[in-house]
Amino acid sequence: MTHSIKTQSHIKVMKFGGTSVAHASNINKVIDIVLDAKSKRDNIVIVVSALSGITDDLVMLANLASKADLKYKIILKAICGRHEQAIKELINKKNQEKVLQEINKKYSELEEIVKNIFSAKKLSLSALDAVMSFGEQLSSYTIGEAIKSRGVPCEFVDSRRIIKTDDSFGSANVYIEKSYKLMDDCFSARGGSALGGKVTLYIMGGFIGSAEDGRTTTLSRGGSDYTASLVGAALDAEMIEIWTDVDGIMTEDPKKMKDALLIPEITYEKAEEMAYNGAKVIHPKTIKPAVLKNIPIYVKNTFNPAGGGTRISNGKK
Ligand code: ADP
Ligand code: ASP
Ligand code: MG
Repeated sequence: MTHSIKTQSHIKVMKFGGTSVAHASNINKVIDIVLDAKSKRDNIVIVVSALSGITDDLVMLANLASKADLKYKIILKAICGRHEQAIKELINKKNQEKVLQEINKKYSELEEIVKNIFSAKKLSLSALDAVMSFGEQLSSYTIGEAIKSRGVPCEFVDSRRIIKTDDSFGSANVYIEKSYKLMDDCFSARGGSALGGKVTLYIMGGFIGSAEDGRTTTLSRGGSDYTASLVGAALDAEMIEIWTDVDGIMTEDPKKMKDALLIPEITYEKAEEMAYNGAKVIHPKTIKPAVLKNIPIYVKNTFNPAGGGTRISNGKK
């Protein structure tokens, strides 16, 4: 008999954005938050973005290569260096070699794609998606290994296996039913506590998926929030948490307006409107999957975890 993960109690999806996972010291804060939640819940799916700035670097890398500009090599080296540094600080000596080897395989894969762009002297949208996806591929694997280094079992899931999309590269449309089925099957098969398994913590990259022919796609810039919402809806999670670098949804962008105020409660409708009007704190596509399953979304600050954050819901208590 197939048990669905949904039959298990307490599923929570926690998404951490770029600044939250910028480097080893922030990643350790993220792991503290996850482990604290883990001590209170059975099942958590972590969704992570790329380390801050890495997606922009990857775009620059692809563009330089397409202009046959050898400066791309400098960017590639810097991207590798940042992940290696994080691995050296986060992973215990015993496992470091294995993790670095795995990461090196990823670099070679990325280098191969970039060399092809260099020779072709042009950049297709599908090649750009393939390149951009390495930010989340590298961050999710690295952070998963860092969690294991803290003695907690954590299973890595390749998002491209479970988020299926059309081939609108750069802003792919997700095949919802198909992806939900794949997500439910994938997480259930891995066996949480209700199934007698040990792994009740999963990690995957946001932002990326794959088309029917297997080619990598992306869900549009900032799309990791959307991934978290899709996972939450697929698993009928109790809540979806978007952990970022500000206290929650504010009346204005707090980086531009010093007197912006925190909005503790907001409806799905109003949050969606703010997102569509450019409030970058939450990707506009995030709201719909959550509304349809009536799952509350909390926006919280990785650097102030005790803060109440913003609760996005249907407005009913
Ligand atoms: P992450 O990398 O965690 O996904 P983002 O940079 O995508 O973070 O989104 C968080 C940023 O959104 C904040 O640092 C803030 O500058 C910006 N922002 C824009 N409008 C708002 C708003 N109304 N409330 C809160 N943050 C906002
Ligand atoms: N890393 C991707 C980006 O920079 C996705 C995300 O951050 O949500 O757009
Ligand atoms: Mg974002």
